[in-house]
Amino acid sequence: MSHIYVWTLTLMLVLGSQFGYSDEPREATLIYAGKALLEAGKPPQENVSILVVGEQIQQIIPGFVEAGKLTGFDKITNLDLRNEFVLPGLIDAHVHLLMLYKGDRTVETEGQYALNGAYNAKLTLDAGFTTVRDLGAPGSSIFALRDAINGGRIAGPRILAAGAFIAVTGGHGDDTGYNEALWHERASGGVCDGVIECRKAVRRQIKRSADVIKITATGGGGKPQGGPDAEPEFYEDEFVAAVETAHRLEKKVAVHAHGTKGIQLALNAGVDSVEHGTFLNKEIIALFKRKGTYLVPTLSVRDNLRADIDEMPAYIQERARYIVEITPELMGDAHRKGVKFALGSDAGVVPHGNNARELEWLVDIGMTPQEALQAATLNGAELLGLKDKIGKIAVGMSADIIAVAGDPLANISAIRNIALVMKSGKVYRQP
Ligand SMILES: [Zn+2]
Repeated sequence: MSHIYVWTLTLMLVLGSQFGYSDEPREATLIYAGKALLEAGKPPQENVSILVVGEQIQQIIPGFVEAGKLTGFDKITNLDLRNEFVLPGLIDAHVHLLMLYKGDRTVETEGQYALNGAYNAKLTLDAGFTTVRDLGAPGSSIFALRDAINGGRIAGPRILAAGAFIAVTGGHGDDTGYNEALWHERASGGVCDGVIECRKAVRRQIKRSADVIKITATGGGGKPQGGPDAEPEFYEDEFVAAVETAHRLEKKVAVHAHGTKGIQLALNAGVDSVEHGTFLNKEIIALFKRKGTYLVPTLSVRDNLRADIDEMPAYIQERARYIVEITPELMGDAHRKGVKFALGSDAGVVPHGNNARELEWLVDIGMTPQEALQAATLNGAELLGLKDKIGKIAVGMSADIIAVAGDPLANISAIRNIALVMKSGKVYRQP
């Protein structure tokens, strides 16, 4: 196609819509909200009309305005939420959509990951989570899933995807315990050792279209390398090289860290969020504050630990008890001292579609429902670099709107009673 032809076509389209020649019917959705928390942290409002045009919120009008009084539309669909509580779509900053809860990663194929991902994406959206950050998935299916959702072919939340973990050989994310002949098959796409390889591993993920980089600084919580005093799995130079490379390419960095030294390494390297942050202490809390780094505490995982503690090997039981009984108090301390929190459930490790459980946990550690909802909306949006688009109900923002029965400010568990889910102006679940 010649440039002149394209320009002419563009000009015709622009002029056409300008002067009303467009054949597209002008449609809008008018939401009547009985109670609405337009922005977490501010008082909720009563009796508000929200006008959605296309993917965006176009007007917020006090009272219930009659559809007939809004001119310029061929069709206005009314959503009656006068008996519901309306909020911005929720954001989960830590999920693994391709991972089946209690699935067997040694037998699942790329095809199964993709299909399970589509299934879990729908569960997540139905639970009111309109945006997620997927922090670690094998293969390329997570990018395909993200693109299929963005293209409107599959129902699911907006996804920011990390792809493969950046991990050292044999580290967290590089499965071990197999016959050497299987290593190649089981290797994470992001394994690296040394400065050059770690730069390259990050570049490779970004080449594969990763939106964010996930690095595993320590072992998993149930592994020796995930203990409170364990040395980080990375040497400082290779870790810093990975973080620098991501930032140079304008990608944020989320770091899995349980042990104190791993958290310290991540904070000192200037990462954007620490995931889990399990074994924090007073000094670590001060360092979090100084650096302004987000903590995504994935508290829900403690439900699993509680349920399984008696079946665990003896050496790990003591650690599990400490995590269940002591660390929530430390997280509460971190919150009270002003550390920034974003909600992350670690869904995949915990059941998909139960992401709102994390809000209950945030309240359990001492947040008010408003603060927990801030972690699940505004803070998630800021951490994901999307605060101009999502996280609150305001004119010009993406129309990511949910409604629940009951009042989540009185009882946070009401957030589970989802009545409506709208993402980018499209209704996926309705009363
Ligand atoms: Zn995780």
